[in-house]
This record gives sequence, C-alpha cells and structure tokens, in this order.
Amino acid sequence: MMSIIIINSRIDNSMAQINPDFAIELKKFGALDFNACYNCGNCTAVCSLSDEDNSFPRKMIRLSVLGLEGDIDSSVDPWLCYYCGECSETCPQQADPGELMMTLRRYLTSKYDWTGLATKLYTSKLWEFGSIFLLALIILLLFVFFHGPMTTELTVDGGVKLNTFAPWKEIEIGDWIMAGLLSFFLISNIINMYYKIIVKRKDVKIPIKLYFTEIWKLVLHFATQLQFSKCDTELSGKKYSINAYWIIHWLLMSSYVLMFAMIVVFLGWFQTDIIYNWWHPQRFLGYYATAGLTIGVVYFYIVRVYKKSEKSRHSHITDWTFLVLLFLTTVTGILVHIFRINGLPYATYYMYVIHLMVMFPMLMIEVPFSKWSHLAYRPFAVYFNNVLMAASKRINKKTEY
Ligand code: SF4
Ligand code: SF4
Repeated sequence: MMSIIIINSRIDNSMAQINPDFAIELKKFGALDFNACYNCGNCTAVCSLSDEDNSFPRKMIRLSVLGLEGDIDSSVDPWLCYYCGECSETCPQQADPGELMMTLRRYLTSKYDWTGLATKLYTSKLWEFGSIFLLALIILLLFVFFHGPMTTELTVDGGVKLNTFAPWKEIEIGDWIMAGLLSFFLISNIINMYYKIIVKRKDVKIPIKLYFTEIWKLVLHFATQLQFSKCDTELSGKKYSINAYWIIHWLLMSSYVLMFAMIVVFLGWFQTDIIYNWWHPQRFLGYYATAGLTIGVVYFYIVRVYKKSEKSRHSHITDWTFLVLLFLTTVTGILVHIFRINGLPYATYYMYVIHLMVMFPMLMIEVPFSKWSHLAYRPFAVYFNNVLMAASKRINKKTEY
C-alpha cells in the first residue's frame, strides 16, 4: 500500500514525463527481466544500502515499469547501489533488480551527457568500435608524421633514449589537450547531473551553506569508495565489511588516479631516460599503479568470465570494451618499460606508439562517456543526496515548530 501511495504521488508530479517506450529503451542499455517484477519488496528488504530516505531497488523497478522517465532522471538511487547482487539472488521472480540498477547507471550516464555521445557509445557497437579505431588512428598518424629520431644509441645506463623519439614536453602538450577535453566533458556532464537532481526540484530550497558543510562527504566517498564496504552487511548486521570487492575497486581506482596524475601532470618526472633503482619513487609508484591496474583487470575479467556471483552474471558489451582497453593499456605500458630498461630501441618505440593508441581511446571514451565516469558520478550522487537530505531535515524541523 505504502509503495502505491509513493508511486501515485510521483505520477501526479511527472505525468508529462511518462514514456511508454521506456522499457524498450532500457533494454538497449542492458536490462532484460525487470518486467517480471510483481512488487513483493523482497529486494529492498535485503538491500544493505537501502534505507527509508532512499528506498531501492523496488521503487526504481516500479518507475521503470511505469515509464516515469522524469523521476528516474532526477533520482540518485541508481548511484547508491554498489551492485552486491543480493537483491537479484533473492528475487522470487528472477526480475534481476541488481542488473536493472546497473542498467539505470548506464542510462543516466547517457542522460547527463549533453553531447549524445554516451547514448551512441552505449547503444551502438559501430559507434563504440568506430570511435576506438578513429582515436587510435589519430595517434598513429601523429607519430607517423611528427615522431623524433629513432636512435639505436643507448643511455649510459644501457636504456633506450625514449625522449629522443617521443620528447616528453611534446607528449605533455598532447596530454594537456586531452585532459582539458576530458575535464570539459566530464564537468559539464556533472553540472547537467546537478541540474537534473537538484535544480529541477521545486519542493526543496537548498541554503548555499549546505553545499560547503556537506562537501567533505564528496571527498571522502571519492577517496575511499566507502559504500562498497556496506555491501553484503544486511545479513551479518555489521555496518561495514572489508570485502574483496571493495578492496579491489579501491586498488583499481587509486592506481588509475595515480597513473593519470603521473602521465598528465608529472610526465617530465615520470618519462625519463634515466633508469632509477626499483625503490626510487618514480619506479615504485609506477609499479604500484601497474600492479593495481593489473590485479583489478584480471579480477574483473575472471569474475565476468566465470559468472560465479550474481553481479557478474550479465556483461554489457561496454563492460568488456572497458576491461580490454584497460588490460591492453596496462600490458603495453609494462612492455614499454621492459624494452626500455633492457635497451631494445625499436621494440620500445613501436610499443610506445601502440601503448598511446590504446590509452588515448580508453581515456577519451571511458572518462567522460562510460565506465570511468561512474567514479565521479557516484560520489557526486552521494553528495547531492546528502545536501538534499540535510535541506529536507531543516524544512521538517521548521514545520515541527
Ligand atoms: S524485483 Fe523481485 S524481489 Fe524486488 S519487488 Fe520485484 S519481484 Fe519482488
Ligand atoms: S545490487 Fe546490492 S546494493 Fe544494489 S540494489 Fe541490489 S542489494 Fe542493493
């Protein structure tokens, strides 16, 4: 009864935004079985991340079945789910609510993206593979026409003179252009997300002060990915659990951020011809980031191939593209390092070009339009949600007086 009241009140607010083809649209983003739901509420009862303020996944399933697109577009709930899969395991109808929440995250990513590219990349293989190919081709052509001399002369340490072939100052200019584009797309998409979640809501007025008092939660959730530690805690009764899923996610995220900072901000320090001892910070941090990326990629590859847990039972094509691009970026990076320190000039030069041909599309596609963007959307969703909750509590307090 309660859920009918909630849904009905939302229908009144968003009657104009009912999309009768919503289920068909969602299927393009990966959802398959959610129409089988008979609204028993079991999934919400077992979800350790759902609470009375953000009650999911049943509500999101109802909204999806009814095609209430506007309510879904302004919801933070899909980002608060960390895909433990418990709801799907216990659903009596095999409606797969966990997969629907994952699908909604892809769908929302495409909604926040004002360019329309995320929709194309998520729903068309031609766009996905065509963009990868095109971006890789741009890098190849840049090297064909602008590379430095391919010298076989080695450094005093016996290493390859990589900076003669690809001077770090020139590569860094390219990195900055790329980082500028990525930041522009990602930040503008986050502003669009803010508009949909907060600005469009007319029922809650947010005092500016709240944006500052709640900002530490944005930093906390980005740095720790803390919500992952709440997965699977409903049955044990614990508030947090140190689980492999959280640790590996954190390892992957921290390695990616570290590697990104080293190649974009500190390339002059990271891409040297000098061969330092392995414990030198340049090599040590490089090894940490490489190990974190490798462990993360191998772990997620294995769980997706063997499909032993509910959260890895379904894989969208973009999940595989992400893993393959990340794997190839990591492997080619390792090979560049091995060839360079072992004094193999041509192998180093060719591998370096291949490395950038994979890394550039991986970053340009995944950071603003696909999987890596979720790393930013999740903490922002938690932040916006906390701001909204704090504002609602203030209003309730005032009305009590
Ligand atoms: S998704 Fe499954 S568990 Fe959840 S309300 Fe529907 S039928 Fe019940
Ligand atoms: S997958 Fe886990 S976190 Fe997500 S809705 Fe289901 S039970 Fe909750």
